[in-house]
Amino acid sequence: MKKRMSHNMGAITRKEIEEFAELVLEDFLGWRFSWSAASPSICDKEQEIIWIAKRYIGRYPWEAKENVLHETAHINTWPSDSFHGEEFYREYIRLLQIHMAGGGGKSGEGC
Ligand SMILES: [Zn+2]
Repeated sequence: MKKRMSHNMGAITRKEIEEFAELVLEDFLGWRFSWSAASPSICDKEQEIIWIAKRYIGRYPWEAKENVLHETAHINTWPSDSFHGEEFYREYIRLLQIHMAGGGGKSGEGC
């Protein structure tokens, strides 16, 4: 009898999310990352903090990273595009290409 393949895609740790967020925010002077017990995550312009919901700890890595990039994309597109319009998605895709798709990374590698 054949064994079924696992569908487990891995689980991200608290530390991995923190390191990812710190790396992403290196390009956003003054901004920092903090955990939020509440959900959803938010981009706090007044305090210059992206608050990431703790519920992402232990979830799929792409979920947590996508959430960090989503909130980061609000930094330079709020309030001009606070409702996820074209300007927001242009910035979001730029961040995805750098941090998740391997293109345009800081190392200069990728396609
Ligand atoms: Zn949003």
